[in-house]
Amino acid sequence: MIRAVGLLLRFLAVLFLVRLALRFLVAVFKGATTPAPGERRAVPASTDLVRDRVCNTFLPRSSALVAAVNGETAFFCSETCRDRALLQ
Ligand SMILES: [Zn+2]
Repeated sequence: MIRAVGLLLRFLAVLFLVRLALRFLVAVFKGATTPAPGERRAVPASTDLVRDRVCNTFLPRSSALVAAVNGETAFFCSETCRDRALLQ
């Protein structure tokens, strides 16, 4: 009786390992067929969002005004915000 339980446990353990192996193989197969993450991230850098620290607005880096404030590069949505930051 105890031997039978031992056999059953071994059988379950093998089943478990086989399932794990199958899952691993499926993951590898899927990973090979879907495009690499790097390809999807190939978006223009201009879509990066930057924050206007004056009015807390997020805007694309390409359309932001850039100024050095206290030695740091800062981005602004408008000249009004930039001037406000520079005057502080
Ligand atoms: Zn602003």
